[in-house]
Amino acid sequence: MATRHVDIIRALLRREVGTIRKPDGSNLRVALAFPNTYYVGMSNLGFQVVYRIFNEIPGTLCERVFLPEQRDFEDLRRTTSSLVTMESQSPLREFDVLAFSVSYELDYFNIPRILSLGRISELANDRGEEEPLIIAGGPAVTFNPEPLAPFVDVFVIGEGEEVIPEVVSVLRDGGERLHLLERLAQIQGIYVPRFYEPKYKRDGMIERVSVTADVPMPVRRRWVRDLDKYNPGNPIRTPDTEFSNMAIVEIARGCGRRCRFCVAGHVYLPPRKRSASSVLRCLEETPRAERVGLLGASVFDHSEFMDICNSLLQHRRLFSVSSVRLDLLTEEIAEMLHRGGQQTITVAPEAGTERLRQIIGKPLTDQQIFEGMSAAWNGGLRRIKMYFMVGLPTETEEDVKSIAQLARTIASSFRWERLVVSVSCFVPKPWTPFQWVPMEKERELSSKLAMIRRELKAEKNVRLTAESAREAVVQGTLARGDRRLHSVIGAVASGSRSWKNSISEAGLSVEFYAYRAREREEVFPWDHIDQGIAKSHLLAECDSALQAPDKERRKPSGSTT
Ligand code: SF4
Repeated sequence: MATRHVDIIRALLRREVGTIRKPDGSNLRVALAFPNTYYVGMSNLGFQVVYRIFNEIPGTLCERVFLPEQRDFEDLRRTTSSLVTMESQSPLREFDVLAFSVSYELDYFNIPRILSLGRISELANDRGEEEPLIIAGGPAVTFNPEPLAPFVDVFVIGEGEEVIPEVVSVLRDGGERLHLLERLAQIQGIYVPRFYEPKYKRDGMIERVSVTADVPMPVRRRWVRDLDKYNPGNPIRTPDTEFSNMAIVEIARGCGRRCRFCVAGHVYLPPRKRSASSVLRCLEETPRAERVGLLGASVFDHSEFMDICNSLLQHRRLFSVSSVRLDLLTEEIAEMLHRGGQQTITVAPEAGTERLRQIIGKPLTDQQIFEGMSAAWNGGLRRIKMYFMVGLPTETEEDVKSIAQLARTIASSFRWERLVVSVSCFVPKPWTPFQWVPMEKERELSSKLAMIRRELKAEKNVRLTAESAREAVVQGTLARGDRRLHSVIGAVASGSRSWKNSISEAGLSVEFYAYRAREREEVFPWDHIDQGIAKSHLLAECDSALQAPDKERRKPSGSTT
């Protein structure tokens, strides 16, 4: 066992409050992995909730494991020692199940890395009966599990609260792996990729996906009707995370606004809320933290939002919200957030012009943005973070420059203590109306980011943070990828090849996965999953976005229409 790795784990554990420790003797042992570092993983509420769900099932023990920091990673790679879990520092191979919680495409590379450090066969087909069963769930694999399909035995598609106990119940019965997989595949929300076989055409597109066993087709996602039945908070507090010493509570899930670029707005439907009484009860039952974080895609849509805030104030608890909808931000709400101790509010106009915001389905007017900012200022809020994207469909130079112009106007209209403008690159995602559109090329994305940088250079009151266009293109390749990409993921993960070399050696290309406009009738790698949204509806939305009145003048090359 690598001593330094274990020393670091023990130091992290000493700073935690709420670590779940169960007596041994469980008949199912689960290692729950986050494919990134401890800091990133412990900032993820979904990961912590799954940790609690597994541990609440009698007879089941769940321990956490993370990707080690770079130096420990290299140390472990050089030795024959195994990566170990946090709680008991046990090697991963000793567990019955290794379950990954996957939120982000760029973390895919860390999945074979963790398997390799755990001395577990990377590919499902090579794995023996004595090795752990590999499960993966979380937003990224719910949207499109295919690039990871050859690594994973079982995917959870959708929300985990109900499906996890059902999976555990089957695994407890034991038996040969193939038999277990056949039984698991019958559970709604479970996808066992080895039973689904894509056939490709000569041009590389998918002809069809067939089943090779008696399993459901399509695979239906799972979602929870009554959120109040489940504890919505993070069981563990630690200073070694982004939300240091914060109790995070999910007060709402899903969002009914369906902005055309937003996969969460299309997949986590219908929008649901937790009752104020359930939120407050959960907070009473968990260890008291310095602050409370109220989480949800659209917290201001929660009908009891102000009641929850008032109640927290009465109990002298500080609180903040994850993001703010400018069109719903009133002075009263801003004042409430200020009294709750919110330091920075995060808003997302997404695009610089009204025209482009209309096209992407987030039709905020400039006036609404300005009024929202005024409400924030008058309510006492002084720090703002604004999110924008470049590379959106039909975007022009004017749209890009308008991001800087809008930032300048907001900066000069109020005396913010801090105004951060964060610009990322638009990545077309499955299950959105923009799943057919080509991603903007890396060079163009970089030059648009550089343009904003130049425009804001002299603006001392604005701090600009911009995403790497290169990473965005890798993300864009994986987001709409298929299972042929697994060899690229494996090669990059092993460090033997660069992204560019491994993708060309595999006979694949970024042009095909990221930069290509999809055919209207194309079979997508995720089409055999049923998220409850009609593809025809998404296509109609895509058409309606790209056929906006001034489309002809501004149509980008490669558009689907
Ligand atoms: S971008 Fe925000 S408002 Fe739009 S659908 Fe997504 S979560 Fe809802």
